[in-house]
Amino acid sequence: MAPVSKQYDYLVIGGGSGGLASARRASAMYGAKVGIIESGRLGGTCVNVGCVPKKVSWYAAAIAETLTEAKGYGFDIDVKGFDWPTFKTKRDKYIERLNGIYERNLKNDKVDYIAGHGRFVSRNEVEVTHNNGEKSTYGADKILIATGGYPSVPTDIPGAEYGITSDGFFELDQQPKKVVLVGAGYIAVELAGIFRALASETHLMIRHDNFLRSFDPMVQEVIGKRYEEDMGMKIHRRSKQTKIEKDESTGKLRVHYEDSNGTGVLEDVDTLLWAIGRRPNTGDLALDKVGIGRNEKGHVIADDFQNTSVPNIFSLGDVSGKVELTPVAIAAGRRLSDRLFGGPKFAQAKLDYTNIPSVVFGHPEIGAIGLTQPEAVAKYGQDSLKIYKTTFTAMYYSMLDHKGPTAYKLICHGPEEKVVGLHTIGLGSAEMLQGFGVAVKMGATKQDFDNCVAIHPTSAEELVTLK
Ligand code: FAD
Ligand code: NDP
Repeated sequence: MAPVSKQYDYLVIGGGSGGLASARRASAMYGAKVGIIESGRLGGTCVNVGCVPKKVSWYAAAIAETLTEAKGYGFDIDVKGFDWPTFKTKRDKYIERLNGIYERNLKNDKVDYIAGHGRFVSRNEVEVTHNNGEKSTYGADKILIATGGYPSVPTDIPGAEYGITSDGFFELDQQPKKVVLVGAGYIAVELAGIFRALASETHLMIRHDNFLRSFDPMVQEVIGKRYEEDMGMKIHRRSKQTKIEKDESTGKLRVHYEDSNGTGVLEDVDTLLWAIGRRPNTGDLALDKVGIGRNEKGHVIADDFQNTSVPNIFSLGDVSGKVELTPVAIAAGRRLSDRLFGGPKFAQAKLDYTNIPSVVFGHPEIGAIGLTQPEAVAKYGQDSLKIYKTTFTAMYYSMLDHKGPTAYKLICHGPEEKVVGLHTIGLGSAEMLQGFGVAVKMGATKQDFDNCVAIHPTSAEELVTLK
C-alpha cells in the first residue's frame, strides 16, 4: 500500500449526484478539507447516463408528437424524419459541457477532485487506483460511500448478453427500427415511450399484467391503455424470455419468449434493452474488510442519519437503495454535511424520506406523491378515506382528431380530509407536481386545495375543483 499522500476531514467515494452535493456543501459552506474520488465521469448516473440525457431524449420525443399534432392546428408541415445521429452528437456535447462545469464547480468550492477507483484499506484510509494504473492512499476522519448503482442483466437467459441496458441506450448511434424492452419500471416505460414516439416498432415485455405496479392503479390503467391502444406499442403480458440469438451477418437479434398467448419469437430485432432494475455499486470497495453492513440486495445499510455500521463511515444515494432519485441523493448529501460539519444547529439534520414527489417521463407524464390507494387503504382502512378522481380531455386536444388521456386522483384521510396521496397522468404533470408537492408536504387538506383559486384554462385547475 502506498503511504498516505493527503489527509482529509471528509473523503467522498463517488462523484455523482449525492457525493458531489455532500462534498461541495462540506467544503464551501463549512470549510472542511474535502476530497472526492470518481472512477468515471463527473456527475454520475444522472448527468451521464440518466436523468439529463434521458430528459433531452424525452424532449425530442415530445417534439415528434407535437409535429404530428401541428396539422390539427392548421400548420402545413411535412416532417421528413428524425436525424438520430445528429441528435446524439449534440446531446453528447451537452453532457461533456456539464462534465466540465462539474469539475469547475469542485475547483470553485475547493474540493480536491481525485480521478480513479477507490477501495477501503482501513476505516480511515482509501486506496485509489488512478486511470494510469498508479496507486495513492488518502486518509480521512470521515468517509462517504456514494457509489450509486448499475443496471441489472439477467444471468439465466441464454444470449442475454446480446441485449443492452439504459447505459447502452445513450450509446446507440442509430435509431433502432425494431426494439424490445424488458421491464416494467421507470426506465422501461420512459425509454419505450421515447422509442415509440420517434416511430420505432416497440415491444414491451412485462412479467405481470401491468407495468409501473408501484404506482396507483389509476395510473397503471391509463398509461397501459395509452401505450398499447393509442401509441401502438406491443405489450407482451406475463412474458418471459427464453433465449436470445444473434445473426452474426446482420447483427439482428431473435428474441424467443413465452407470454400469455403461448410461445413466440420476435425476429429482426435491432435492439433488446433490459430495464429490470438496478444493483448497488459495491463490488471492489472492500466493504467487508472494514465491516460495513449490507442488506440481502447488497445495498449499504444506512440509518435515517446516513450512518453505516462503522461510526465514521456514511452512505447515501442509490448505493444505499432507499429512494433512487437524484434530488433524494442530493438532499441526503447536503443534510449529512450540515450535520457533520455545520455545528450544533444542525446536530439533528437528516432527510425526511416521506412524501417524496416523483415523475415518470412517459407519454404523457405521470406525477405522484404520497400513498397509492391500496397503500392508503392498508394504512388507514377504507372507511376513513375519501377519494376524489377525475378523467378528462385536456383542451390541447380540442383541435386534434386523436385525444390523449388525463386522469387525476386525490386520496384524503380523516374528517379533515388531509391529502395523503396525489396522482396525476397527463400533459404537464411533471411541472405541475412540484407545487402540489409543497402543499402535500405541508399537510394540506382538501379544503386547502379548494381554497386556492383555480388558474384557468389549465389542466391543473381540476385538482383544486374536485368534487
Ligand atoms: P450516481 O449518480 O450513480 O454516482 C455514483 C458515482 O460513483 C458514479 O459516477 C460512479 O462512477 C462512481 N463510483 C462507483 N464506484 C466507485 C469507486 N469505487 N471509486 C470511485 N468512484 C466510484 N432520477 C431522477 O430523480 N429523475 C430522473 O429523471 C431520473 N432518470 C433516470 C434515468 C435513468 C436511465 C437512470 C439509470 C436513472 C435515473 N434517475 C433519475 C436516477 C438517478 O440517476 C440516481 O438516483 C442518481 O444518479 C443517484 O445518485 P448517486 O449519487 O447515488 O449515484
Ligand atoms: P425499477 O425498479 O423502477 O423497475 C424495474 C421493474 O422491472 C421491476 O419493478 C419489475 O417489475 C421488473 N422486473 C424486475 N426483474 C425483471 C425480470 N427479470 N424480467 C422482467 N421484468 C423484471 O427499475 P428501473 O431499472 O426502471 O429504474 C431504477 C430506478 O431508477 C427507479 O426505481 C427510479 O428510482 C430511478 N429512475 C427514476 C426516474 C425518474 O425519476 N423519472 C427515471 C428512471 C429511473 P414487475 O415486478 O412489475 O415485473
